[in-house]
Amino acid sequence: MFNRPRLLAPGPVETDPRTALALAAPQIHHRTPEARAALQEARSRLGQLLGGGLEVLITASSGTGAFEAAMVSLLSPGARLVCAEAGKFGERWGKMGEALGYTVDYVRAPWGEVLDPQAVAEAVPGAAALLITHSETATGVLHDLEAIARAARAANPDLLILVDAVTSFAVAELRPQAWDLDAVVSGSQKGVALPPGLGFVALSPRALDHLASGGPRYYFDLARELKSQQKGETAYTPAINLIQALNLSTDRLLALPLEELWAEKARMNAALLAAGEALGCRVFARRPSPAVAALVPPEGVSGKQVSEALKALGARAAAGQDAYKDSMFRISLMGYFDRYDALAVAGLLEDAFSALGQRFERGVAVAAAWQVFAGTQVVGRRT
Ligand SMILES: *Cc1c(COP(=O)(O)O)cnc(C)c1O
Repeated sequence: MFNRPRLLAPGPVETDPRTALALAAPQIHHRTPEARAALQEARSRLGQLLGGGLEVLITASSGTGAFEAAMVSLLSPGARLVCAEAGKFGERWGKMGEALGYTVDYVRAPWGEVLDPQAVAEAVPGAAALLITHSETATGVLHDLEAIARAARAANPDLLILVDAVTSFAVAELRPQAWDLDAVVSGSQKGVALPPGLGFVALSPRALDHLASGGPRYYFDLARELKSQQKGETAYTPAINLIQALNLSTDRLLALPLEELWAEKARMNAALLAAGEALGCRVFARRPSPAVAALVPPEGVSGKQVSEALKALGARAAAGQDAYKDSMFRISLMGYFDRYDALAVAGLLEDAFSALGQRFERGVAVAAAWQVFAGTQVVGRRT
C-alpha cells in the first residue's frame, strides 16, 4: 500500500501534488524555446513573491550553494564581513565566510533571542557586507530584518546585506526592495513546496554593480549566470524539470495577495504553538517565525521523545540542534499545507503526548489551535 508520511520538519516539506505531475512529464532539452520560457517564467514568479525590484537567479543547488554563489560573486578577497547570528544557520554563513578566506566579525544573541539592530549597526562601519538569517530555523525566531537592515544601512550606506531568507521566502513578510536588501537567498524545498534541488538568489541593483568585483569562483559565478539567465539559459545544465515544476507550485502562492499568504502562515504557526502550550510546552522563540514552531516540552519529556512519538504516528518532525538537541522539538507547516493541517497536527500532538504518558484533557490542543483561526477566513486552502 502507498504509505504517505507526514513531513512536518522544516524542510524538505510536503510538496504541491502539481509538482509531481510536472516532474512526470517527458524530459525536455534545456536549450529549447520551451526551456527558456520556463526559466524566464520561474525567475519572474520568484521575483513577484519578493514584491518585485530584484533580479532573480536560479542555481542547481540547495540553499547553501545559492548563499555561497552570492558570497563569492559579490565580495572581493580579503573583505571584512559581519555575521549577525543567533542559531545554527546564522552560524553557518560566518563559517562559510571564514572558509572562503574573508575576515568575519560576529554579532551574536543567545539561541531563542532576537538580534539587536543597534548592536549590528555598531559593527558594520567599514565592513563590506552583513550576513544575516531572517528566519532562524534552528530556534524558530523571525529576526526583525526590517529594523536591522535600516540600522545597518544608516551606519554604512555602501554595505551589502546578504540575507538567508531560506525559510522566510513565501512564508513571512519579506520586502527586499523596501528594506534595501542586496542578496536574498532561498531554496526549493521550503516555502515554495518543491522537492530539494534549486537555489534562488535575488539581487538588488547595488548587488548587480558588485558582480564584477567578487572573488575566485567558477561554477557559482553569478555574473556569468546573469548573462545567461537574462536570455533564458543557464551557464551549465539547469535542473529544468524542477524549474518546470516550480511554475506549477507557485501558481497557488501567487493566487493570493502576499500579505494574506503571510498572515495565514503566521496563524498556522501560531496554532501549532498554541497547541503545544495547551499540552504544557513552552514557546522557545522570543519572536516566532511563521516557518517553524520550536517548542520546549514539559518537565520530564525530551524533544527527542516527542519527535520519536510523532514518528511512531507516521509524522516526521525535528528535534533541536546542537546544545538544544534534547530540549526542544520543531514542527513546520511551511510547505503544501493549509489551516486544516494545523488542526490535524494539534491532534497528532495530543496522541504523541498521550503515548508519552502525559495527562491532559482530551481536545485541549485542537481547541487551542482552532481558537487561533476563529473569526478569520480560510486562506490558501489546499486545492
Ligand atoms: C534549510 C535552511 C537552509 C538551507 O539549507 P540547504 O540544506 O542548503 O538547503 C539555510 N538556512 C535556513 C534558515 C534553513 O532553514
